Amino acid sequence: MRKNKIQLIYLFLLFISTSFLFAGSPINIIAIIDVNIIPMSKEEVLLNQTILIENGKIKQFGKVTDIKIPQGSQVIDGKGKYLLPGFFDMHAHFFYEQGENRNTCEAELKMMLANGLTTVRIECGDSVYLVARKNVNENKWLGPQLFVSSPQFVGNWPWPGKMFAEICKEPKDAIAAVRKCKQEGYDEIKITFMVKRDVYDAIIKTAKEVGMKITGHVGPFVKLPAALEAKQQIEHMDEFIEMLLPDTIYNHGQSVSDMNIWEKEAWATVPYLDENKIPTLVKMVKQAGIYVTPTNYFFFSSFVDSLTKEECMRKPDYAFIPPKIRETRWKVRDYYWKNAPPKSSREKYFQIKSKITYELAKVGVKLMAGSDSPEWFLVQGFSIHNELEAFAKIGMSLFEVLETATINPATYLGINKTKGTIDIGKDADLILLEKNPLENISNTKSICGVMAGNKWFDKGHLKLMLNEAKSELSKSN
Ligand SMILES: [Zn+2]
Repeated sequence: MRKNKIQLIYLFLLFISTSFLFAGSPINIIAIIDVNIIPMSKEEVLLNQTILIENGKIKQFGKVTDIKIPQGSQVIDGKGKYLLPGFFDMHAHFFYEQGENRNTCEAELKMMLANGLTTVRIECGDSVYLVARKNVNENKWLGPQLFVSSPQFVGNWPWPGKMFAEICKEPKDAIAAVRKCKQEGYDEIKITFMVKRDVYDAIIKTAKEVGMKITGHVGPFVKLPAALEAKQQIEHMDEFIEMLLPDTIYNHGQSVSDMNIWEKEAWATVPYLDENKIPTLVKMVKQAGIYVTPTNYFFFSSFVDSLTKEECMRKPDYAFIPPKIRETRWKVRDYYWKNAPPKSSREKYFQIKSKITYELAKVGVKLMAGSDSPEWFLVQGFSIHNELEAFAKIGMSLFEVLETATINPATYLGINKTKGTIDIGKDADLILLEKNPLENISNTKSICGVMAGNKWFDKGHLKLMLNEAKSELSKSN
């Protein structure tokens, strides 16, 4: 009996300590001491700072010697480390859209948070994700703040299985669908495939009427000039490279944008793309003042130069992909690579897309980091760091690269008064790194702490969150 009692007390204590671990540490004042701050409001590193956080807001920061730490504060040693605003992923999905439609959102959110994401835009909506957003907002689930785009607006849906789409064949369908999505609480309207021009115009007009932004693909029925005029926020740089086609084929020609990435005929146009047209294209985009999410790592790693099967399976994040979904992803990958476009075309596509991205950044077009995970073998959270590396590889300054995952998306989403930089009064959405990402962008992976929603998660907490996520996601066998 006594033994049972001791066992019960032990279990109770264990429960308390693990719930504490899972819940983070909701202490009123947190002080991170002697840390180097990269505030992202301008290009600088503030050395040897102490930062005070009260009730989830940044209260004060300054030289270690100037800041008095209130009694009872939770103190975190930041010596030699780097503190940045938490990262945004502006293009993510959930596994729910793939495979067996199992709802594993809670596990995936932990994965995102543990990788330094404190804000994520889900780029294809479903009512399940609105519940996830609510659960995070109400502190029932751990995770980044979510913005949820509408189900994708498409002109047609020829595929079997559950549909995550609003089919709009006529303008009247579009008007009704936009109004419905507004009512259901989606944050933006997402457009993808086969949308006809008159339907597109109806989406734009109605979205403006109800006060919703438009994000997504640009298809061949719409083309870039119309999308720029509509001020659509463009994903994947769709229809950008079409602007480099010779004039003789532009009006009826398509290159490698949107679904055409799968089409042989589209790849056949790549040798004819004219780089001399890039300055005109860049000028048009700059003048429109739109935000662009290139999702380059997804395209380069999937369609240009794929990892071998062995390399892919060795990736540390591969174990987080539910086994059932892995099977379907291998089928997709093998379908493309069995009959892949010529290497020379893939290389030219890579070079052109990189050059356009670089030139856009150079003239100050606001770029945003988006992973497009979990497409192919990209995993939420982990893959945002790959996208940042892809930006760095094409020659953008590392400060510009960090802007794509902090202040740029915060400004686009209209939350830059509370997020996106380290400033007094702003939300303490923070990421603590072992090493300086302005020296090497891969240092964004050296995460040793994350703060979000007034909770501090140290390395141990983050590891625990990842282990929980992995175990939940492995259950789909
Ligand atoms: Zn996507």
